[in-house]
Amino acid sequence: MEIIVQTKTKHYPIYISPEGLEKLTNLIQQNEYTKLLVITDETVGPLHLDTLLSALPKEADYSVYTVPSGEKAKQMAVYESCLTFALQEGLDRKSCVIAFGGGAVGDLAGFVAATYMRGISFLQVPTTILAHDSAVGGKTAINHPLGKNMIGAFHQPDAVMYYTGFIKTLPEHEIRSGFAEAVKHALIADPKLLNMMMSSIDSLGDLTDEQLVQILQRGMEIKANVVSIDEKESGLRAILNLGHTLGHVIEASLGYGKTTHGEAVMVGLVYALHLSRAVLNLSFPVGKFTNWAIQLGYTMEIPKELTFAEAYAGMQRDKKTVAKQPRFVLLEAPGKPVVKEVDKTILEEVFQQLKQQNK
Ligand code: NAD
Ligand code: ZN
Repeated sequence: MEIIVQTKTKHYPIYISPEGLEKLTNLIQQNEYTKLLVITDETVGPLHLDTLLSALPKEADYSVYTVPSGEKAKQMAVYESCLTFALQEGLDRKSCVIAFGGGAVGDLAGFVAATYMRGISFLQVPTTILAHDSAVGGKTAINHPLGKNMIGAFHQPDAVMYYTGFIKTLPEHEIRSGFAEAVKHALIADPKLLNMMMSSIDSLGDLTDEQLVQILQRGMEIKANVVSIDEKESGLRAILNLGHTLGHVIEASLGYGKTTHGEAVMVGLVYALHLSRAVLNLSFPVGKFTNWAIQLGYTMEIPKELTFAEAYAGMQRDKKTVAKQPRFVLLEAPGKPVVKEVDKTILEEVFQQLKQQNK
């Protein structure tokens, strides 16, 4: 299965396969990289590095650098140590970084590639469902103590190679995290896929290869289409933010690592759906959707200690905010997103209703 991402700066393929990484071998051979630097994390390396290494061409000159798992990978000190390693290993401008892991490794390794010698090639080999989102679009970043993803660059990979076999070892809460982004993609652009998901997936523990390929493929196509039109996020790309205005606030309120990104986004999706009903008369069974999410193991809770005043202040810090007015991605219908300001009283009303439901 192949998708082509076409941006102003570059076009490149995404491959998804339940069989293996055979395309990776060919691509590395064709591109004649002088050296490969595989960046992986402490969890993914022991589980899957052998599979990745066995897909590298026999003659490939490669080194492997292992970083801490999760957000710890995106620290400035880790970034610097990757650069030191790359210099010590003699990577040059024709070398290539392979990001082998989830979104955190992808963001870090992508930023290393974006900045090493003013930018070298990189390949994304994602190992999480969430990475169907993060591996496409060319945003790379590390964190600053004062804010997540505050230091970064747009840098498109040469290719994305998804082998669904890697996902089999993903813990269920990480599957839930990535699946929420897939639901988001379906909500903004593919009502049929959403129906398929809601009618045929009642447990995330036993997604079939066929379902996984379909969900990842459509999710990446949708993201790729949006990114092709608006690579640097000056307009349309904001629709990918559905569910994230409140989602980010919940993630920050609980503390990063206490919940997964996607689990917080799922609450944000339900909030955005209720707002869409209130503001745009969206016709959509939000109750049924919420029950489905609960059945899949999402907690769907706004943290008890999070007051509306704090949530509103957090929403004002969102990047979509203009003149202190938070803006939301809403749906006129599934597949028809719009970006809109919402009256503060409606925001509070819906927020309090959702909080009540958790009691
Ligand atoms: P992650 O890379 O932290 O992976 C989650 C956890 O799963 C980690 O502990 C990791 O070691 C482990 N893991 C990864 N693959 C595994 C496997 N196959 N089996 C078992 N364990 C595995 O995070 P993620 O959820 O993939 O991505 C989140 C990150 O992505 C965040 O840093 C976020 O900022 C970033 N992100 C970036 C973009 C973008 O456009 N660049 C978009 C969305 C999210
Ligand atoms: Zn997200």
